[in-house]
Amino acid sequence: MSKTSIDTRCVQGGYTPGDGEPRQIPIVQSTTFKYATSEHMGQLFDLEAEGYFYTRLQNPTNDYVAAKICELEGGSAAMLTSSGQAANFFALFNICEAGSHVVACSAIYGGTYNLVQHTMAKMGIESTFVTPDCTDEELAAAFRPNTRAVLGETVANPALAVLDIERFAKVAHDHGVPLIVDNTFPTPVKCRPIEWGADIVTHSTTKYMDGHGVAVGGAIVDSGNFDWMAHADKFPGLTTPDDSYHGIVYAQKFGQGGAFITKATAQLMRDFGSIQSPQNAFYLNMGLESLHVRMDRHCANGQAMAEFLSAHPKVDSVKFPGLASDPYHELASKYLPDGVCGVVSFNVAGGRAAAERFMAALKICAIETHVADARTCCLHPASATHRQMTDEELVAAGIDPGTVRLSCGLEAAEDLIADVAQALEQA
Ligand SMILES: *Cc1c(COP(=O)(O)O)cnc(C)c1O
Repeated sequence: MSKTSIDTRCVQGGYTPGDGEPRQIPIVQSTTFKYATSEHMGQLFDLEAEGYFYTRLQNPTNDYVAAKICELEGGSAAMLTSSGQAANFFALFNICEAGSHVVACSAIYGGTYNLVQHTMAKMGIESTFVTPDCTDEELAAAFRPNTRAVLGETVANPALAVLDIERFAKVAHDHGVPLIVDNTFPTPVKCRPIEWGADIVTHSTTKYMDGHGVAVGGAIVDSGNFDWMAHADKFPGLTTPDDSYHGIVYAQKFGQGGAFITKATAQLMRDFGSIQSPQNAFYLNMGLESLHVRMDRHCANGQAMAEFLSAHPKVDSVKFPGLASDPYHELASKYLPDGVCGVVSFNVAGGRAAAERFMAALKICAIETHVADARTCCLHPASATHRQMTDEELVAAGIDPGTVRLSCGLEAAEDLIADVAQALEQA
């Protein structure tokens, strides 16, 4: 399946039934799995044999869907997690520990920022943030001897900054650490970061991959390209014996392509238990089956909306990398030539009060704390996610009091534009 086009992989990847087996992936709604002998069970616990024994660590339904996402991204191994937050935490914590340091791009999802800046700091993992536009010198200056990873988002939520993946990957590799890229917004249909040098790819599958607002979930894909043994001193968790598994060395026993995901499953899933429910994995797979078809419409609607807004007198400015005038247009042309995503950010002329009147007048676009859904939704950060801030504080955080984040769904572009046009008249 990995040699077929991405469209075919969306529909059929990850699961090939044999004769008489279900055409759709089975939902294995079972917490546990049966064995004839304790010896066989013991081999599973020693990681000497492959097999399922408890759904807190692994479940067949999840693994079918993870295998599909792995094929879509072009990776060597993948796993599902209960949420995008869990995916980013596992991806980092799999190679970091107290005393480690992370270099992160400042244009990232707010939840990821909180995770890295505050929660992981409480675990003794420090971080340095760099802007996506920093120079190579500024990026290099962020590294320390204890740096273990670089983290960024292909297209940042909600800043809509495009990461120069090749450049960040090169500097990460020059410092002997992997680049982790959150590819939630473009999905592998529009960009495959591994092809540009990223080592680990993460997802909030809650967004376009599910695409219908049904199930919270996450995924981690390993490229298999990072040579852990070549930097063995930096990654002892992968390159020295794990006492909780009779001293196996992940990078030796499971190789460069299998070590990262095996460790994250055997250690982190075992100990933190952030597994996706098999039922949610089934819903996620339904979303993936149409991902390639939906992404084209999301991107086309986003593009049409951004062009409409940028010509409107009641709109001060528009952020959308698909616009030729956007500062990230050049990077978008390189990494996302077939479309970016459906999310557009713009400033309503007249600030906070005008944006509030605009939001209240919308009829088709719904006010929601969500993005990347089949139904168009929007958010006014100044009165929702950032409502505790004054106008001055908002501007300092790079958000205008009149900023609206609009996630274009799958409806007809002319209906969405008509709704936004009538609401702008009332702003
Ligand atoms: C939503 C989001 C997350 C967090 O994912 P959840 O599934 O909500 O936990 C992480 N990264 C990006 C880019 C997101 O948009």
